[in-house]
Order: sequence, then C-alpha cells, then structure tokens
Amino acid sequence: MLVVMQAHAGEDQIRKVCQKIESLGYRAHPIPGAERTAIGVTGNQGEIEAGTFDEMAGVQEVIRVTKSYKLVSRDIKEDNTVIRFPGSTATIGGAELAIMAGPCAIESRDQAFAVAERVARAGAQFFRGGAYKPRTSPYSFQGLGEDGLRIMAEIRDQFGMRIVTEAIDHESLELVEEYADIIQIGARNMQNFSLLRRAGRTRKPVMVKRGMSATLEELLMAAEYVMSEGNYNVILCERGVRTFADHTRNTLDLSIVPAVQRLSHLPIVVDPSHGTGKRNKVTPLSRAAVAVGADGLMVEVHQDPDKALSDGVQSLYPEQFDELMAQVRQIAPIVGRTIRLADQAVAPLSKVEASARSLS
Ligand code: PEP
Ligand code: MN
Repeated sequence: MLVVMQAHAGEDQIRKVCQKIESLGYRAHPIPGAERTAIGVTGNQGEIEAGTFDEMAGVQEVIRVTKSYKLVSRDIKEDNTVIRFPGSTATIGGAELAIMAGPCAIESRDQAFAVAERVARAGAQFFRGGAYKPRTSPYSFQGLGEDGLRIMAEIRDQFGMRIVTEAIDHESLELVEEYADIIQIGARNMQNFSLLRRAGRTRKPVMVKRGMSATLEELLMAAEYVMSEGNYNVILCERGVRTFADHTRNTLDLSIVPAVQRLSHLPIVVDPSHGTGKRNKVTPLSRAAVAVGADGLMVEVHQDPDKALSDGVQSLYPEQFDELMAQVRQIAPIVGRTIRLADQAVAPLSKVEASARSLS
C-alpha cells in the first residue's frame, strides 16, 4: 500500500502517518518526490484497511499497490532517483553520465594506480575494481581482500574518484561497507536474498548487477530487497545475460534500459565489458548504451591486459578507453546528457602526477 501525502503536507503530518504505520507492526518508507512525499508500507501479509490512513491530516490518497515490487516502482516516486556522494560532485541518475572504470581485479598497488591515473584523466568519476572476486574456478585469483580495499581507498584520496567494489558474502560486506562508496552485488549474487538484505542495512549506495538469467522483474525484486531494508540508494546494472549466441561471452540486453526506466525511478548503468566479453565490442556497445539512455557505463580497463589476472580479454587498453570517452562525448548531448571532459580529474593534476612519480 502507498499513502500519498498532499503536496503541502508538513514533516509532522508525514511523521504521524509513519508512526501509525509502525504502530500497526508494518514498516514505513517515506520517499520524498519532486511534488510530494509518498509513504510505502511493507511488511503486511494481507490487505491493510485503507480507511486507517484516509482520514489522517495531510493524506491525499491511499493506493493499493498490486505489483510485487513497490519501493522501486514509479508508483511511489515519479521522478528519477539521483544518487549523490558526500564530498564529490559526481551523481548517478542525473544529467551527467556516471562513468565507472578500472580493472576487473585489484592486483597490486602499482597496477591499480596505473589504471586509476588513466581513467581519472579520461573523465571517470568512479573507480571500479574487485578486491573479492567471484571466480568460476577455486584455483583462479580470488582477489587481494582487505589489502585491495586499502589500495582503492588510497586511490579515492589521490584522484578524487569514488570507489565501486564487490561484496561476495556477508563477511566481505562488513569490510566493503567500510571502504567503498558503492557496494557492488555481482550477477552471481543477484538472488542471494540474505546478502541483499544485509546490503539494505548499510548506508552506502548499492549497485545490483543483473543475474545471468534474470528477468526484468527478478532484477527489480532484487533491488526491492535492498530498499525494503531502508536503503533507497540503489543502482541497477545490465551486464549481459546468457543466450545461445556464442560470438560474445554474454548477450548485452540494452532493451532492458528503457524497460527499467518505464517502471522504476532507479538509475541503470550498463557494463559492456562483461556484457560482451570481447575488447573489440566494448566501445561500440558503450556508444549504444549511452544512445539508449543508460545513466552510466561500467568499463574494465587494464594497463597491460595480456597480463591481467582476470578478464584481460575484455579489458580495454587505457588509450582505447580515451577513445571510448571521446566517442561517448559526441553522443551524450544528443540524448540530453552531459559528460565530464578529459583531464577534469577531480584531484588537481599536479597531485596525479606526483603520485605517478612516487610509483616510479
Ligand atoms: C565484475 O564486475 O567484475 C563482475 C564480476 O561482474 P558480474 O557480477 O557482472 O559478473
Ligand atoms: Mn571482470
């Protein structure tokens, strides 16, 4: 159920409705919109008597939500969710495209800094990299763990980029929550409901990647799990699904972008690296993702892909990432998006150069 407040409803009236909801044993989710606040009610098994709220001060109407997803839906919030980061001008879901780039895995301090310097200069506001890697083989490189997180935190300080990194289980989430600016839930965990709930109890934005065989509704329900715990800063990520096609690692389903945007207020970014698995397809699909209206891109970049410990074949060389950004910069304004210029790294360039020197 959804309690829609009047446009001029005061804080006090909103609080009283929330208290009433909680006193009945349900959970209240007040979601402020551009025009008015709507309060989602979750935790009820059956129908709630609408009359309970209808007569309360400041209430405009009470709507029964029949869809299985509620908090992710545009029914509760018509305008797009824009995610902001303390101490940064970067946003996700606003007019500026969110560009996340970095290696698949953090392999060493030198490797991570070399990539970070290049993607920051190219205009990325977010640095991606795995410290905990969900690998198909238990014998493959599993990530540096907390050491990897520490390197990422240093990169944030040095280059001003916000940090995106994956939590693969409850244990890693404890640490990822401490270091990261965005907690990534990987494709393999999209239906790990207890992990989603745990991520919902953090105060950091959560990026949920689409499962390899997940439908649109299943992806939205994964986000609903996070939101149902009170964390409303959720980003969706399309990263390709498994099909019979064998010319790519996965089939990047760009049609999900407008489909999500029709149903949900949450931002959606596209990962053309895992989405295609082939370096030569990453730039074309990035162009397409921006053209289709994605809120951002997540791209794997490595300074020496042939030696990468994971996903080298889909990782761009830094100069290819420069070219990707140049191309995307041409397309962004056509679809009403802005994009940061190259060399607009958040940290002053002198600082960037200083760090490069300190590595050599
Ligand atoms: C990743 O982003 O490095 C990753 C493992 O992605 P996915 O969960 O989409 O496979
Ligand atoms: Mn990867």
